[in-house]
Amino acid sequence: MEDLSHLFRLAADHAAGYRRSLPDRPVAVPVDQDALDTAFSGPLPSAPSPPEQVLADLIGAAEPGLVASAGPRYFGFVAGGATPAATAADMLATAWDQFATTAVSSPAAIAAETAAGAWLKELLGIPPSASTGFVTGCQAANTVGLAAARHQVLADAGWDVERRGLHAAPAVRVVAGEERHATIDRSLRLLGFGSDVVEPVAARPDGAMDPGSLREVLRAGSPGPLIVCLQAGNVNTGACDPLREAADLAHRHGGWVHVDGAFGLWAAAAPATRHLVDGVDLADSWACDGHKWLNVPYDSAFAFCAHPAAHAAAMSYTAAYLAGSGGTPAGAALTPESSRRARGFAVWAALRELGRDGVTALVDRCCALARRFATGLSAAGFEIANEVVLNQVLVGFGDDTRTDHVVRAVQADGTCWTGATTWRGRRYMRISVSNATTTEADVDRSVTAITRLAG
Ligand SMILES: *Cc1c(COP(=O)(O)O)cnc(C)c1O
Repeated sequence: MEDLSHLFRLAADHAAGYRRSLPDRPVAVPVDQDALDTAFSGPLPSAPSPPEQVLADLIGAAEPGLVASAGPRYFGFVAGGATPAATAADMLATAWDQFATTAVSSPAAIAAETAAGAWLKELLGIPPSASTGFVTGCQAANTVGLAAARHQVLADAGWDVERRGLHAAPAVRVVAGEERHATIDRSLRLLGFGSDVVEPVAARPDGAMDPGSLREVLRAGSPGPLIVCLQAGNVNTGACDPLREAADLAHRHGGWVHVDGAFGLWAAAAPATRHLVDGVDLADSWACDGHKWLNVPYDSAFAFCAHPAAHAAAMSYTAAYLAGSGGTPAGAALTPESSRRARGFAVWAALRELGRDGVTALVDRCCALARRFATGLSAAGFEIANEVVLNQVLVGFGDDTRTDHVVRAVQADGTCWTGATTWRGRRYMRISVSNATTTEADVDRSVTAITRLAG
């Protein structure tokens, strides 16, 4: 046990040192992937090794290939950091090694998910009666939400999809915005609909769904099982679909409304941005990430469902050895997993640490910093291609080739890290401010570096 304390302390000391280094270390350094592969490779060892040696070897091999994506100047994709309490709680989840399958396998893990689920629903404006599945990421959350939708719309048509599958099932219409996230299509593939099922709805210039187009698409089809996918938070512009109007339209056609709100749903947690997701409570299912804007370590996301019975019908399974677990469906009964990580501890810890005010401040601060980026880069003479309504900024540096050059130069420079994207047929630098530790100084330093490199 002495040895174990020493080993865990080594890991914790390294982890703390790494976190302390994040504000100062280059965000990404040019990596020699072959050298990294070599450092990890070699023949499968035949003999055991002392754990301390294994840890030292792992750190030595991994260090040159780590990306400071948890740090304050990483603006790529939509990547959050990880709060101190959430990180420490996740370490405990690992050490406790609970499997959060049922309240029998880990009463504490299920209790943490239940409590964190209630807090999340309150913050996100989701009805308290909704069920919550703690999943790996928003990809999984979309799949769970759409599986619950598939169950219900087919059950309403007299078809038991869990038993009979989709062969010979009544046709299901799936209507989704042309600006939907790519994971919606993969969820539809996994659920047996195929991505061709989508009837696309045109977007407004900001990337949000055009309700007029939704009305036309809905009217053009025949009545029957219908799923409508909406989005809160376009990955390029941050724009949110007009949820109230779209959900009303979809419901008038008897449809199930699923909202992909991986990061955008957090707009509900701050009074200044809440209007962007007005009507969010009207949906039937929601998908949201914890590992993006809430700053919980990967992997962490939530599948909420306004119809807990449909949620459980789509996801639960039984086995002889699970009989008697009983009670309210939880854990594995609300996710596509069986044995699963106790994800609730880290989420509970992040929410307990931040509190409602802290979450509101986090959302407000990231949005303000995104606007600061836009102001600074616009003053330097560059094009801001979107209205910065949330935490996403699109920047143009002249023609597409030049923009791609600037992005590559910024990535190689290491002061900060941004990605690139194609928006309305043109290339842009994409900046996402989603980290709880980013400061005004970080943004200013990044604007200076980008301006210098673009010159
Ligand atoms: C990130 C994102 C996803 C996918 O989430 P993962 O956590 O990467 O699985 C889905 N939808 C939107 C809008 C996203 O931003």
